[in-house]
Amino acid sequence: MLILMKGHATREEIARVKDKIAALGYKAHEIPGSLRTAIGITGNRGKIDRDLFVTMGGVEDAFPVTKPYKLVGRDAKSDNTEIRVGERRIGGNELAIIAGPCSVESWDQLISTARIVKEAGAQFLRGGAFKPRSSPYTFQGMKEEALVLLREARAETGLKIVTEVKDTTTLSAVAEVADVLQIGARNMSNFSLLEAVGELRTPILLKRGIAATIEELLMAAEYIAARGNLNVILCERGIRTFEPATRNTLDLNAIPVIKKLSHLPIIVDPSHGIGMWEGVPAMALAALAAGADGLMIEVHPHPSEALSDGAQSLKPEKFKSLMERVRALATVVGRTVGEGAP
Ligand code: PEP
Ligand code: MN
Repeated sequence: MLILMKGHATREEIARVKDKIAALGYKAHEIPGSLRTAIGITGNRGKIDRDLFVTMGGVEDAFPVTKPYKLVGRDAKSDNTEIRVGERRIGGNELAIIAGPCSVESWDQLISTARIVKEAGAQFLRGGAFKPRSSPYTFQGMKEEALVLLREARAETGLKIVTEVKDTTTLSAVAEVADVLQIGARNMSNFSLLEAVGELRTPILLKRGIAATIEELLMAAEYIAARGNLNVILCERGIRTFEPATRNTLDLNAIPVIKKLSHLPIIVDPSHGIGMWEGVPAMALAALAAGADGLMIEVHPHPSEALSDGAQSLKPEKFKSLMERVRALATVVGRTVGEGAP
């Protein structure tokens, strides 16, 4: 059930509703909106009597949620959620540009890429430390050593760090460095990991599973939200289809569909989506035209020498020229592009 508070409901009225939910043995989730606060109830098995709440002070309405996701759905919040990452916001008017190498490979590789993407206008530096690879014989990431380098790169450039957490064992180490914790496509249904990051308040970049439906993606986000972390950014990164010409099929339909179903921001990763660098700029621009809240792009100073995903990584000059087109398109779609970093 979802309880909609009146626009002018007081903190005390909100607290009384939450106390009543707790007294019934359920969990209350406060979802602040720009006009009003909603309170989601989870933990109930049967129906809840709405009369228990509609008579309370400050309550506008109470209704059952028909969708399987209660907290991340549009019912809970009609305005879009903006997620704060320090002084940045993801999901507001400003597009979030996340760029960097697939994997951290060395200090020189990381810092040179960081400077390039910052100069071109990115605000977030990506770089994998713990890499979930399809083959156990390929590069698995520099692990803890990469975390140290990411921390240094943030200190030098001011870029916010986006890096993947692969399992619960390494979560605390990765969370110490990450401004945004990435959950990879292969882990979208790793429910223990989703629950563990749900206990944090760090923003989570949740990538769509390789063969996951949009509803399954939203349910994965709900796992995180149900534990109290509503700071979830969704990421469309392509799904597996019958088409072998590209690594994945970037599902741009997901953007308007998710905008309709959920209040969470959605960004797009065209690098994994198409899997070939030549196609990345076109799909990046298409994603923004379709309403994406940002992009995650793989950039490498020497893609042919990359230890992972070189074929889909942009060279620095290609990223720079893409960013010029992103700025031009942003004005057409009524969005802004921030500066590289403070
Ligand atoms: C990545 O971002 O480098 C990555 C491994 O992505 P995905 O989980 O989408 O495959
Ligand atoms: Mn990659």
